Parts: sequence; structure tokens; C-alpha cells
Amino acid sequence: MELLYKSTRSNSEPVTASKAILKGLAEDGGLFVPMSLPKLDVSMEELSKMDYKQTAYEVMKLFFTDFTEEELKDCINKAYDAKFDTTEIAPLVQAEDAYYLELFHGATIAFKDMALSILPHLMTTAAKKNGVKNEIVILTATSGDTGKAALAGFADVKGTRIIVFYPKNGVSAVQEKQMVTQKGDNTFVVGIQGNFDDAQSGVKSIFGDKELASVMEQSGFQFSSANSINIGRLVPQVVYYVYAYAKMVAKGVISNGEEINVVVPTGNFGNILAAFYAKNMGVPIGKLICASNDNKVLYDFFQTGCYDKNRDFILTSSPSMDILISSNLERLIYRIAGNDDKKNAEFMASLASEGKYEVSEEMKVQLADFYGNYATEQETADVIKEVYEAAEYVLDTHTAVAAKVYKKYKAETGDTKKTVIASTASPYKFARSVMSAIDAKYQEMEDFDLIDELTKLSKVPEPNAIKEIRSAEVVHDTVCEVDKMKDVVKKFLGI
Ligand SMILES: *Cc1c(COP(=O)(O)O)cnc(C)c1O
Repeated sequence: MELLYKSTRSNSEPVTASKAILKGLAEDGGLFVPMSLPKLDVSMEELSKMDYKQTAYEVMKLFFTDFTEEELKDCINKAYDAKFDTTEIAPLVQAEDAYYLELFHGATIAFKDMALSILPHLMTTAAKKNGVKNEIVILTATSGDTGKAALAGFADVKGTRIIVFYPKNGVSAVQEKQMVTQKGDNTFVVGIQGNFDDAQSGVKSIFGDKELASVMEQSGFQFSSANSINIGRLVPQVVYYVYAYAKMVAKGVISNGEEINVVVPTGNFGNILAAFYAKNMGVPIGKLICASNDNKVLYDFFQTGCYDKNRDFILTSSPSMDILISSNLERLIYRIAGNDDKKNAEFMASLASEGKYEVSEEMKVQLADFYGNYATEQETADVIKEVYEAAEYVLDTHTAVAAKVYKKYKAETGDTKKTVIASTASPYKFARSVMSAIDAKYQEMEDFDLIDELTKLSKVPEPNAIKEIRSAEVVHDTVCEVDKMKDVVKKFLGI
């Protein structure tokens, strides 16, 4: 049965999966959502015997119904290969009483690789299927990790170019170095004088610029998005929740059917929404625990039903979660509004004009699957030290936010269900914050000396992604003001 996608903001004609992937964002500014959420059609028993790629096929075939089996398997094989440093792709590691789902074994050592190693293949396949002749220009705003993962995915992919905007002073040293050293003639990296929300709003406005779109068309270009608003990012993320559950059954950690909880360090709400989709597909998940850092707009939303971004933007040690507009929440709002695009469009208009909206009591009741909490900077640092000392396991700062929130959840509820914590980055990516949390003596050290110390401490070998940047040459040095993003894009494309 064909699954179509519609916009969250209007009643425009539904489109196929491949068209939704190509477009990224709907023309009315809404996000594409599947008309219904499919149910898994293989048993957990069968899934528990499958490897990552097989699981990926079983999930993606239900969402990307206009791709042939051959096309989909080809995309999956190209994505989940030796770029990952383990054939398990997403290993599950127990530390203390939690199961860390390590999503950072790909090329750029953050969980964005899970989806961005397949998106370029889905996109070029979708272009072929739809007879697209234009060159596809991927426009991406990044809080640090998406940028590099997208660059790595799209570099030298024929028929595509990629432009990444990042907040010049809002990413870690390793994150920046990874991006500005990116090779590939089709890549372009720009630092902006603003924060992530500025970058994301700038990109959205370029997407919505009709005049620019027509100039692009004349010059043989069209935009698409690699941000987590693209359904081609979201669906591959559903896979690892299915996989994690099946692995826990296979290892005898849980019995088939037993509920687990899932904790997700959250920024743009993509990863946790994928877990919610997995739950709706039939994976026995109890609570979806949404962990925020000091930018706790989501925690406040789950508490009060009011989403309010009118507050200071705080730079934290978990920069990939420094976000006040969680774009993917719109997909959940649309759903709890009873799949009502008009109602959702009103909320989003209010968010754009007033910076806030408040959902009704009936809508709030439907958020019962979720639990929100947050960790302060101090709590995040403390939990890194605590888990290291108790279990010799080194958490990155984002995963630490989740670990702390899980501890708060347990203390508050007494819920002892087996729990999976999405581990979204390697500690190597945030070595300075991680090492300083473990011992203040590391504060004085140079970046790469810290990395050497982390290797000794964690007993985890230095990942290739770090080795690569030790000597890599900086090839991107463009910096621009927020209101010049469009000019920069035109210049890069020569239009
Ligand atoms: C992007 C990112 C997050 C937040 O994920 P969302 O899907 O945006 O909620 C958390 N941790 C790390 C390391 C990330 O890169």
C-alpha cells in the first residue's frame, strides 16, 4: 500500500515519499508527515535475529513505499558499511543501570551519521525516480553535528552541492575543525555572526524565497534540506529504536513484549520523535523521556502546555542541544491537534509572530507518553564524573544531560523499567568539557593533549574522525552576518 506525505500546515495535495525527500520542506513552510504511521509487519522474534541493515529495510520499506526493494537495499548497503567502526552499527552498552545505545560509530562520531549517511543516497535515488535534471543544492543550518555529518555524506556526490551555515562562536573546537577542513568541490561552509536559531531561520527564509527559487530554476539548481525536518532524516532514525529493542530481546535483557523506557538528549526534537514513531509502529516503549540542557523550552512546554521561546539563548557544553525552536515538535503538535493542519498552522504563525503558543487541555493530555526534564551545566559535569567513577564509562556532554535526566526521572517516579539512553556523540568530540568534568586539572591542556588523555582514561581507541583533523588543512574560512546568508548562497552558486 502506498504511503503518502502531507504538509502539517495546509491541505495541499499529498506527495510520494521520494518527492517529500526531494523537497525537504513543504511549499507552505510546513513539514511533511506520513498520512498514517505504519505498523511493523515482521515479529520482534524475527527482528531479534536481524542485523542492522536488515532491520533498516524492514522499517524503511513501510515508509518509503515508492522506492523499489532494490533501490532501498542499495541505499542501505551504501550507507551502513565500513564508514562505521563496528559492524553492529549501533552497539548497546550497559553502564550502571542503563543501556546506552551508542549512535556515534559513524564517520563524524555523532548520531547524525545514522541518518545522514543514507540521506544522500535516498535523495539521488529520489531525483532519478522523479526525472529531476537540476543540480540539488543542500542548504543546512547546524548547531555543530549535522553540518559535518551532512558534508561527509554529500561530499563529491554527483548532482549535488552542499552549503552549511554554523554559528561562528557556538560550536566546539573539534566540531568547527571538522567542518572547515571538509574536502570536496561541491562543499561550502560558512560561519555566521549569530546563534543556531538565526542560522535555522535564515535557511528557512532562503527556502521560502520564491524569487530566488525561480532564479535557481533558470540556472539549473533546486534546494533541498538535510536538516532533521526532512522525512529522509527522520525515518532512518526510527530504525535504531526497533533495532535496540530487538537486540535487548536477543540478549535476554528483556522478554519479548516487556516495556522499556527511552531517554533522548533533545534539541530539534527529531531523535525523540523517531522514538515516538517507533512506539506507534508497535515497539513496546513506555515513557519517552525528553532531556534538555539549560535551554529548557521543551521541559517548560511539557510542564505547562505553553511553548515559549522568548528567553535568553544559553551557550552550554552540549551545543547541539542549544536550540529554542525545536522544529520537529511541529509534527507532534499537528498530531495532537487531531491532524488538523489549520490549527497547527495557527500555532506556528503565533510562534513566528509572538514567539509562543499554548496548546489546549485536550491536546496536553495526549502528551502523556512524554516526560520532560533538564540538566544544568553543573549537573551535566557532575554526572560525567559520577558515571566514569562508577562504571569507567565516559559520556559525552549531550548523553550526560540524558543520563542526569534519567536519574531525576527514576528518583521522581520510582519507575525501574529497563531503559535505553540514546548516546548521541563520542566523548572525543567534546573532549574539553568531558575531561574538565572528570578532573579540573585538564582545563589547562591543549586540545590534542586532552584527546591523548581521554584515550588513556576511557580505554576507547581514538576514532578516525579525530585522527583526520589533527593535521587537516583549513579550506573554508567564510564568515558572514545573518542578513547576508542569501548573498553568500548566490555567490557560491554563481547566480
Ligand atoms: C543533534 C544532536 C542532538 C539533538 O538531537 P535532535 O534530533 O535535534 O533533538 C543531541 N545530541 C547530539 C550530539 C546531537 O548532535
